[in-house]
Formats: sequence, structure tokens, C-alpha cells
Amino acid sequence: MNRKYNFSAGPAVLPVEVLERARDELLDWQGSGMSVMEMSHRGKEFISIAERAEADLRELMSIPANYKVLFLQGGATSQFAMVPINLLRGRGKADYINTGAWSKKAIAEAKRFCEVGVAASSEAQKFMTVPAFDNWQLNADAAYVHYTPNETIGGVEFHWIPETGDVPLVADMSSTILSRPVDVNKYGVIYAGAQKNIGPAGLTVVIVRDDLIGEPLPGMPAMFDYKTYADSDSMANTPPTYSWYLAGLVFDWLKQRGGLRAMAEINERKSQKLYAAIDASEFYANPVDPACRSRMNVPFTLADASLDRDFLSEARTAGLLTLKGHRSVGGMRASIYNAMPESGVDILIEFMADFERRNG
Ligand SMILES: *Cc1c(COP(=O)(O)O)cnc(C)c1O
Repeated sequence: MNRKYNFSAGPAVLPVEVLERARDELLDWQGSGMSVMEMSHRGKEFISIAERAEADLRELMSIPANYKVLFLQGGATSQFAMVPINLLRGRGKADYINTGAWSKKAIAEAKRFCEVGVAASSEAQKFMTVPAFDNWQLNADAAYVHYTPNETIGGVEFHWIPETGDVPLVADMSSTILSRPVDVNKYGVIYAGAQKNIGPAGLTVVIVRDDLIGEPLPGMPAMFDYKTYADSDSMANTPPTYSWYLAGLVFDWLKQRGGLRAMAEINERKSQKLYAAIDASEFYANPVDPACRSRMNVPFTLADASLDRDFLSEARTAGLLTLKGHRSVGGMRASIYNAMPESGVDILIEFMADFERRNG
């Protein structure tokens, strides 16, 4: 076996212990004589897998009893529509915070359903920071406030939670969920596509407060109504069973490693050492305001962009994969989610120093 270090933004690296366990259980899940992929989602075996995954996620994130955890499909992108469909509840307006590429997509989709107030934006700063809360222009009659705690493409992260009072706060946590403890009570809805920090693609996790369920926009498909899933334990139709199972293995892996407090410490250390190496060099640069740098996605550029190709091909030879930056940003991006071992970050830093010595 030759596992390399995969810095992909998503679908992203999974813990090797999780993959090994999935391999061991692939043909015969715990004496059932079946693969999880072959099981009825309504059979007792899969129900036990589903319930265990939900219980473990609730424990990891300390999710209060008045929140439902939904296991959906359609990605975070479907939530860009499901959020307004379910949360407008008779209001015609919602507030959005614009901090980059994913915020913009959420805003564009919300505009199909309501008036969008951009209560704050860092576009004038080229999305290199997050807007200070003091300057947010929040509407008291907005149905909700939506923000993106971690902009996966720009590498910009909120290290604080906005206080929106009685207006429900909605967070697209696709690339930061499970990377540190979060106070779920502060949110109306938290959603995340699984393929960054939860498990494989195909699963979308939605954590929604009970009182926000059950009053969708009229005329919408039942599959876009949170209540459809809340009333059926997310089994209104066939759920993405294998992704749900693998997410459950990841939750178990996180628990064994000390949960989100332990993860936060490791993620802090991993990201700080990578930023420190970038900042200490004249050859590499990260343009993001140090107060809002992402602990999960670290974009960086080379002083001479004509060396990008060599950097990527030599990195690949050194076993460091998928470091190419997003096409809209250029340069490099190292995504260092929970499952990226600290040794991967150490080897990346060594490689970068060596490349600089030879080319700087
Ligand atoms: C990846 C990503 C998305 C899109 O997720 P899909 O599951 O592909 O729809 C949305 N928001 C953020 C912050 C992301 O990182």
C-alpha cells in the first residue's frame, strides 16, 4: 500500500483507520453476511448504524435535544435553496454576509426566493478578511442571517460567532464542521456537505432547531421540506446509506481521539506551523488577514508563478497530492482537514523549504 498525502479541498482525505475498518467490514458487516451497501435502509442492521451515527454526532457536537439532525442528499448547494424555502416563514427578506465564493453562491440562490440584504461584505477587501461585526447592517425583520464560517476557496475563517439576537443564524459549515467545538445553541441551522470534514460525498448533514421546521414556502417539493426528513428519521426515501455508514465511522474515530476539543488543538497546531513557514519565507505568501486565516484551507502563492507547474509536479513526486489552488484564485491550496495527519503538514513544510532552497 502506498498512501500519499492528499491535500484536496473536497472530496478530501479520510482517516486511514476508517478506511481500514470499512475494508474489514466490506463483505460481511458484523456477521450480517452483507455489505452495508447491500442492506435495506429499513432493516435493523442499517437502522442501528444510522442511529449510532446520529447519537455520536450529537455527542461530539453537544447538539441539544431541541435540534433535529437530518441526513440528506443534494450537497450544501441544495441547502442554498432549502434554507430560504424552510426559514422564510411568511417573511420576504433574509440577511446574508458576503465573504467569498461560497457566500456568493448562497446569495444568488436565495434571490430566487426572497429579497436578500447583504448585511456585510468583504468584497472591497478582495475577500481577504471578514467584516467586523460592528459594521453589519442587520435587518430586524429578516427571516434569518446566513454566513459562511469558513470560505473554502479563499481560506478565510470566522474565529467568532455573530450574535443575531432573535433572528435565527444559519451557517454553511461545509469545510469547518467538526474541526472545533461549537455552541449549537447559537444557530438556527447548521449545514454541511460531508465530503470535506465528515465523510464521503453524497451525504449532507443538517442540524436544525425544532421551531424552524414545518412551515415551508407553498408549492415546494416535499423533498425540499425539512419536515419530510424530520418526521421520517431521514428515511423519507432511500438515504445515501454507505456515506452515512462511513460518516458514522468518522464520528467514532473522532470520539476515540478525544472529540472536538482535541481536534481543535491539533488543527490549531497544524495550521499555525504552516502559516509560520509561509510567513517566514520571502518565497511563499498568504494574503489573508492573519486574524481570519482558515485552519482548514491554506492558500499560498509562489513569488514566481512560472514555477507553479514545477512545484506541483515535484510535490506529486514527493507524495504530496492536489495542492493546486482553486482555478479562481490560482497558486496553491493545502486543505488540512481533521483526517490530514500532522506528519503530512510537516512533510509539506519540509518540501516547501527544499523547493525554495533550490528555486528561491
Ligand atoms: C464545498 C462547499 C460547498 C458545496 O458543497 P456541495 O456539497 O458540493 O454542494 C458549499 N459551501 C462550502 C463552504 C463548501 O466548502
